[in-house]
Amino acid sequence: MIQSAHIIAIGDEVLAGETINTNAAWMAQFLLTFGIRPVFQCVVPDEPLAIQEALSQALASADLAVLFGGLGPTADDRTLDAVGAALGRPVIEDAAVRAHVEQRHSRVPGREASVARQSRIVIGAHAWMNPRGQAPGQLLEVGGRYIVLLPGPPREMQGIAEKWMASWVAPLAASRIHRDTYSVFDLGESQVATHLSPLLEGQHPRAGIYAQPGRVDVRIDTADSAEGRVLRQRGRAWVLSRVPAPVFELGEWSRERFLIEWLAGRRWSLAAMESLTGGQILATLISVPGASQGVVGGVVAYTDAVKESFGVPRAILDEEGAVSEACAVAMAQAAREQFHADVAVSSTGFAGPDGGTEKEPVGTFYVAAAGPMGTVVRRRYTPLDRQAVRQVAVQTAMSAVWELLKLPTLLKNLEIS
Ligand code: ATP
Ligand code: MG
Repeated sequence: MIQSAHIIAIGDEVLAGETINTNAAWMAQFLLTFGIRPVFQCVVPDEPLAIQEALSQALASADLAVLFGGLGPTADDRTLDAVGAALGRPVIEDAAVRAHVEQRHSRVPGREASVARQSRIVIGAHAWMNPRGQAPGQLLEVGGRYIVLLPGPPREMQGIAEKWMASWVAPLAASRIHRDTYSVFDLGESQVATHLSPLLEGQHPRAGIYAQPGRVDVRIDTADSAEGRVLRQRGRAWVLSRVPAPVFELGEWSRERFLIEWLAGRRWSLAAMESLTGGQILATLISVPGASQGVVGGVVAYTDAVKESFGVPRAILDEEGAVSEACAVAMAQAAREQFHADVAVSSTGFAGPDGGTEKEPVGTFYVAAAGPMGTVVRRRYTPLDRQAVRQVAVQTAMSAVWELLKLPTLLKNLEIS
């Protein structure tokens, strides 16, 4: 049974900070989904002695050692020889691996040497062919413990892990962990944490909170068992009932992708007039493939003059100011008309660091959504840095659209008809 793992990144460039060790983070999450606990991570240089040292530490204290990097064709790729030496096993060319590498290797000068180097395995290793490259992954068993070697390029590492390592490790792992994620877009981290404090402090189920500007995710990890199922339901009920704001269960959805598909299904169109967010609302929506099915376009109306020229009444700008509820509503309504759209959104606010008024300090913004059913406008005050305020505004605008169109929040497993 595999319960614990050491994660060892190999590479001078990772050690120097030129490459960020995203592989370790990815691998840790991957192992956790099988209930395998990463208990130690390290980065070592492309040095045989350092690699051997890290490996022997891992074998002394964990069930599994995962090493990545340094399996390539160049002379600075030393992992294989180092592992062979540490185990006292020769490194040999493998015919099946060679056939695979040959098939994938481009016809370049030095091809033969490169193929030969990447066709090698530690004797006794089981090779996992690389679906996205050449050097294979390798699995070794040593005295009841396991060693997994993977290439360093993240796509290749993930490809081998998903294609081969997952089905190998699943039956040996403690138990699969089920992760449910609930997302809140309309409250800050500390507010969500306050409302969920008993859940977050307890261990049954294990819950954690992860925040970025404009979004707070609550993650609940449970075992894949009858008891886990009960805990999962308890956690879900807790989150849905205690958080005083819409709670999203997105599953594979993002809000922007759901909105685009929803608009497309009704042949509805959406436009925007953005000030504070400078186009980020539309950029977020347009990042979804097929966005043209729902988005028509919009305008970045940053100054009062541009707002006025696109249809915001001068009187509102003079009397209420550009950062006001009335202005946000007028902007959304003007965008609907200007762009002949069914729905429109707007944003206006003080992102800082300078500006603001006594009544509307820096970090205050208004967003609005307008449609045939009326308008929704929201004011929010978030004393964060400039970019964060703008990101929060993008999410709040999306929330306003959600409220206006009465869209569902429990999207997981939902299909749009
Ligand atoms: P290659 O055949 O490309 O030489 P390799 O197995 O020898 O593969 P490395 O040479 O260590 O792997 O790294 C190849 C690429 O993968 C580099 O671009 C490197 O920056 C990236 N990489 C290596 N290790 C990591 C890591 N721990 N996290 C993220 N990226 C990494
Ligand atoms: Mg390399």
